[in-house]
Amino acid sequence: MQTLIENLVKLQAVELERIRLSQDMRALPGEIAGAEAALGAAERQSAEVSAALNREETLRTRLERETEGHRQKAARFRAQHNSVKTPEQAAAIEHEIAFATAEIGRLEDEELASLERTEEQEGALARARGQVEELAGALEKTRERTSARQKQHAEQLAALNAERDRVRLEIGPEWLARFDRLAAARGTGIARAENQQCTGCRMGLRPQIWNQLREGELLACDSCSRLLYWDPAMVATPKQPQPEMIPGTGQAVRKPGQAGG
Ligand SMILES: [Zn+2]
Repeated sequence: MQTLIENLVKLQAVELERIRLSQDMRALPGEIAGAEAALGAAERQSAEVSAALNREETLRTRLERETEGHRQKAARFRAQHNSVKTPEQAAAIEHEIAFATAEIGRLEDEELASLERTEEQEGALARARGQVEELAGALEKTRERTSARQKQHAEQLAALNAERDRVRLEIGPEWLARFDRLAAARGTGIARAENQQCTGCRMGLRPQIWNQLREGELLACDSCSRLLYWDPAMVATPKQPQPEMIPGTGQAVRKPGQAGG
Protein backbone atom coordinates (compact mmCIF):
# COMPACT_ATOMS: atom_id res chain seq x y z
CA MET A 1 0.00 0.00 0.00
CA GLN A 2 2.82 2.37 0.91
CA THR A 3 4.49 1.86 -2.48
CA LEU A 4 1.19 2.46 -4.26
CA ILE A 5 0.69 5.70 -2.31
CA GLU A 6 4.24 6.82 -3.09
CA ASN A 7 3.76 6.09 -6.79
CA LEU A 8 0.44 7.93 -6.96
CA VAL A 9 1.92 10.94 -5.15
CA LYS A 10 4.90 10.84 -7.51
CA LEU A 11 2.60 10.58 -10.54
CA GLN A 12 0.59 13.57 -9.34
CA ALA A 13 3.74 15.65 -8.79
CA VAL A 14 4.91 14.78 -12.30
CA GLU A 15 1.50 15.63 -13.81
CA LEU A 16 1.31 18.97 -11.99
CA GLU A 17 4.83 19.87 -13.09
CA ARG A 18 3.94 18.96 -16.70
CA ILE A 19 0.90 21.25 -16.51
CA ARG A 20 2.98 24.07 -15.01
CA LEU A 21 5.63 23.74 -17.71
CA SER A 22 3.01 23.63 -20.48
CA GLN A 23 1.32 26.76 -19.14
CA ASP A 24 4.68 28.50 -18.85
CA MET A 25 5.51 27.57 -22.45
CA ARG A 26 2.16 28.89 -23.66
CA ALA A 27 2.89 32.22 -21.92
CA LEU A 28 6.26 32.66 -23.70
CA PRO A 29 4.94 34.01 -27.05
CA GLY A 30 2.88 36.51 -25.05
CA GLU A 31 6.05 37.85 -23.41
CA ILE A 32 7.61 38.42 -26.84
CA ALA A 33 4.41 40.04 -28.12
CA GLY A 34 4.40 42.35 -25.07
CA ALA A 35 8.01 43.42 -25.69
CA GLU A 36 7.25 43.93 -29.41
CA ALA A 37 4.21 46.07 -28.59
CA ALA A 38 6.26 48.25 -26.20
CA LEU A 39 8.94 48.75 -28.87
CA GLY A 40 6.29 49.51 -31.51
CA ALA A 41 4.72 52.18 -29.29
CA ALA A 42 8.12 53.80 -28.66
CA GLU A 43 8.90 53.77 -32.40
CA ARG A 44 5.57 55.44 -33.19
CA GLN A 45 6.25 58.05 -30.50
CA SER A 46 9.67 58.74 -31.97
CA ALA A 47 8.20 59.02 -35.50
CA GLU A 48 5.53 61.44 -34.26
CA VAL A 49 8.10 63.73 -32.60
CA SER A 50 10.25 63.56 -35.73
CA ALA A 51 7.27 64.53 -37.93
CA ALA A 52 6.46 67.43 -35.58
CA LEU A 53 10.07 68.65 -35.92
CA ASN A 54 9.75 68.59 -39.71
CA ARG A 55 6.47 70.50 -39.53
CA GLU A 56 8.15 73.24 -37.45
CA GLU A 57 10.94 73.51 -39.98
CA THR A 58 8.45 73.84 -42.86
CA LEU A 59 6.56 76.45 -40.84
CA ARG A 60 9.73 78.52 -40.26
CA THR A 61 10.67 78.38 -43.94
CA ARG A 62 7.22 79.82 -44.77
CA LEU A 63 7.50 82.46 -42.00
CA GLU A 64 10.93 83.56 -43.28
CA ARG A 65 9.60 83.80 -46.84
CA GLU A 66 6.66 85.93 -45.68
CA THR A 67 8.92 88.12 -43.52
CA GLU A 68 11.20 88.69 -46.48
CA GLY A 69 8.16 89.67 -48.62
CA HIS A 70 7.10 92.28 -46.05
CA ARG A 71 10.67 93.61 -45.79
CA GLN A 72 10.84 94.09 -49.54
CA LYS A 73 7.43 95.78 -49.53
CA ALA A 74 8.49 98.12 -46.71
CA ALA A 75 11.71 99.00 -48.58
CA ARG A 76 9.69 99.78 -51.73
CA PHE A 77 7.28 102.01 -49.76
CA ARG A 78 10.17 103.84 -48.09
CA ALA A 79 11.65 104.57 -51.53
CA GLN A 80 8.24 105.86 -52.77
CA HIS A 81 7.87 107.99 -49.64
CA ASN A 82 10.68 110.27 -50.88
CA SER A 83 8.82 111.14 -54.03
CA VAL A 84 5.23 111.71 -52.78
CA LYS A 85 3.42 114.83 -53.77
CA THR A 86 0.56 115.13 -51.29
CA PRO A 87 0.15 114.63 -47.51
CA GLU A 88 -2.60 112.04 -48.29
CA GLN A 89 -0.14 110.00 -50.37
CA ALA A 90 2.44 110.28 -47.58
CA ALA A 91 -0.09 109.11 -44.97
CA ALA A 92 -1.14 106.17 -47.15
CA ILE A 93 2.48 105.07 -47.64
CA GLU A 94 3.28 105.49 -43.93
CA HIS A 95 0.26 103.35 -43.18
CA GLU A 96 1.60 100.60 -45.53
CA ILE A 97 5.07 100.81 -43.95
CA ALA A 98 3.56 100.55 -40.45
CA PHE A 99 1.52 97.52 -41.52
CA ALA A 100 4.54 95.75 -43.05
CA THR A 101 6.64 96.47 -39.93
CA ALA A 102 3.92 95.11 -37.67
CA GLU A 103 3.66 91.98 -39.82
CA ILE A 104 7.43 91.48 -39.68
CA GLY A 105 7.27 91.74 -35.87
CA ARG A 106 4.39 89.27 -35.66
CA LEU A 107 6.11 86.78 -37.99
CA GLU A 108 9.37 87.03 -36.02
CA ASP A 109 7.51 86.31 -32.77
CA GLU A 110 5.92 83.31 -34.43
CA GLU A 111 9.31 82.09 -35.62
CA LEU A 112 10.73 82.46 -32.13
CA ALA A 113 7.86 80.42 -30.68
CA SER A 114 8.50 77.78 -33.34
CA LEU A 115 12.21 77.65 -32.39
CA GLU A 116 11.25 77.13 -28.75
CA ARG A 117 8.96 74.25 -29.74
CA THR A 118 11.77 72.76 -31.82
CA GLU A 119 14.12 72.89 -28.86
CA GLU A 120 11.57 70.97 -26.74
CA GLN A 121 10.91 68.50 -29.54
CA GLU A 122 14.61 67.85 -30.02
CA GLY A 123 14.84 66.88 -26.35
CA ALA A 124 11.75 64.69 -26.73
CA LEU A 125 13.18 63.06 -29.85
CA ALA A 126 16.44 62.23 -28.06
CA ARG A 127 14.47 60.67 -25.21
CA ALA A 128 12.20 58.77 -27.62
CA ARG A 129 15.18 57.41 -29.55
CA GLY A 130 16.84 56.35 -26.29
CA GLN A 131 13.62 54.58 -25.36
CA VAL A 132 13.48 52.81 -28.73
CA GLU A 133 17.07 51.63 -28.31
CA GLU A 134 16.39 50.41 -24.78
CA LEU A 135 13.22 48.54 -25.77
CA ALA A 136 14.86 47.01 -28.83
CA GLY A 137 17.55 45.65 -26.48
CA ALA A 138 14.86 44.39 -24.10
CA LEU A 139 13.05 42.65 -26.97
CA GLU A 140 16.26 40.98 -28.06
CA LYS A 141 16.89 39.77 -24.49
CA THR A 142 13.29 38.53 -24.19
CA ARG A 143 13.71 36.57 -27.43
CA GLU A 144 16.95 35.00 -26.21
CA ARG A 145 15.51 34.20 -22.78
CA THR A 146 12.34 32.77 -24.31
CA SER A 147 14.23 30.60 -26.73
CA ALA A 148 16.47 29.29 -23.90
CA ARG A 149 13.42 28.62 -21.74
CA GLN A 150 11.63 26.85 -24.57
CA LYS A 151 14.60 24.55 -25.05
CA GLN A 152 14.94 23.95 -21.32
CA HIS A 153 11.20 23.31 -20.94
CA ALA A 154 11.17 20.87 -23.85
CA GLU A 155 14.00 18.91 -22.19
CA GLN A 156 12.23 18.95 -18.83
CA LEU A 157 8.97 17.86 -20.42
CA ALA A 158 10.68 14.96 -22.16
CA ALA A 159 12.20 13.87 -18.82
CA LEU A 160 8.83 14.24 -17.07
CA ASN A 161 7.06 12.24 -19.77
CA ALA A 162 9.57 9.43 -19.35
CA GLU A 163 9.15 9.55 -15.58
CA ARG A 164 5.37 9.57 -15.97
CA ASP A 165 5.44 6.50 -18.20
CA ARG A 166 7.73 4.72 -15.75
CA VAL A 167 5.56 5.51 -12.70
CA ARG A 168 2.32 4.59 -14.48
CA LEU A 169 3.71 1.12 -15.17
CA GLU A 170 4.20 0.67 -11.41
CA ILE A 171 0.54 1.41 -10.62
CA GLY A 172 -2.25 -1.12 -11.15
CA PRO A 173 -4.72 -0.33 -13.98
CA GLU A 174 -7.72 0.08 -11.65
CA TRP A 175 -5.99 2.61 -9.42
CA LEU A 176 -4.63 4.33 -12.48
CA ALA A 177 -8.09 4.63 -14.06
CA ARG A 178 -9.49 5.98 -10.80
CA PHE A 179 -6.65 8.47 -10.43
CA ASP A 180 -6.97 9.64 -14.06
CA ARG A 181 -10.73 10.12 -13.73
CA LEU A 182 -10.32 12.21 -10.57
CA ALA A 183 -7.40 14.19 -11.97
CA ALA A 184 -9.40 15.01 -15.11
CA ALA A 185 -12.42 16.11 -13.07
CA ARG A 186 -10.71 17.89 -10.17
CA GLY A 187 -7.21 18.74 -11.31
CA THR A 188 -5.67 16.36 -8.76
CA GLY A 189 -6.44 12.69 -8.05
CA ILE A 190 -4.80 12.20 -4.69
CA ALA A 191 -4.72 14.44 -1.62
CA ARG A 192 -2.86 14.31 1.70
CA ALA A 193 -4.92 14.13 4.87
CA GLU A 194 -3.72 16.66 7.42
CA ASN A 195 -5.19 17.73 10.77
CA GLN A 196 -8.15 15.44 10.15
CA GLN A 197 -8.91 17.27 6.89
CA CYS A 198 -8.68 16.48 3.19
CA THR A 199 -6.13 18.97 1.78
CA GLY A 200 -7.86 18.65 -1.61
CA CYS A 201 -11.25 20.02 -0.57
CA ARG A 202 -10.63 21.15 3.05
CA MET A 203 -13.52 19.05 4.37
CA GLY A 204 -13.16 17.39 7.75
CA LEU A 205 -12.69 13.61 7.90
CA ARG A 206 -14.67 11.19 10.01
CA PRO A 207 -12.56 9.87 12.93
CA GLN A 208 -12.86 6.33 11.57
CA ILE A 209 -11.40 7.39 8.19
CA TRP A 210 -8.71 9.48 9.87
CA ASN A 211 -7.63 6.49 11.97
CA GLN A 212 -7.56 4.15 8.98
CA LEU A 213 -5.50 6.69 7.02
CA ARG A 214 -3.03 6.91 9.87
CA GLU A 215 -2.68 3.16 9.72
CA GLY A 216 -1.46 3.60 6.14
CA GLU A 217 -4.64 2.94 4.16
CA LEU A 218 -5.55 4.64 0.90
CA LEU A 219 -9.20 5.79 1.05
CA ALA A 220 -11.53 8.09 -0.87
CA CYS A 221 -12.58 11.47 0.55
CA ASP A 222 -16.31 11.39 1.33
CA SER A 223 -16.64 14.90 0.01
CA CYS A 224 -14.48 15.21 -3.13
CA SER A 225 -13.73 11.51 -3.84
CA ARG A 226 -10.00 12.20 -4.17
CA LEU A 227 -7.80 9.37 -2.93
CA LEU A 228 -6.60 10.21 0.56
CA TYR A 229 -3.39 9.22 2.30
CA TRP A 230 -1.58 10.17 5.45
CA ASP A 231 2.09 11.09 5.38
CA PRO A 232 3.88 10.41 8.69
CA ALA A 233 6.81 12.56 7.50
CA MET A 234 4.52 15.60 7.56
CA VAL A 235 3.79 15.27 11.29
CA ALA A 236 5.29 17.92 13.57
CA THR A 237 6.42 20.18 10.74
CA PRO A 238 7.12 23.81 11.77
CA LYS A 239 3.82 24.81 10.18
CA GLN A 240 1.87 23.15 12.98
CA PRO A 241 1.29 25.12 16.19
CA GLN A 242 3.51 24.18 19.10
CA PRO A 243 1.55 22.49 21.92
CA GLU A 244 1.10 24.50 25.08
CA MET A 245 3.27 23.19 27.87
CA ILE A 246 2.12 22.59 31.42
CA PRO A 247 4.56 24.76 33.41
CA GLY A 248 7.29 22.77 35.13
CA THR A 249 6.25 19.38 33.80
CA GLY A 250 7.59 19.40 30.24
CA GLN A 251 4.27 17.92 29.16
CA ALA A 252 1.90 19.30 26.59
CA VAL A 253 -1.57 20.41 27.55
CA ARG A 254 -4.07 18.03 26.03
CA LYS A 255 -6.87 19.75 24.22
CA PRO A 256 -10.15 18.25 23.08
CA GLY A 257 -9.70 16.74 19.65
CA GLN A 258 -5.98 16.30 20.12
CA ALA A 259 -6.41 13.29 22.34
CA GLY A 260 -5.45 9.87 21.09
CA GLY A 261 -3.30 9.19 18.13
ZN1 LIG B 1 -11.72 15.96 -0.23
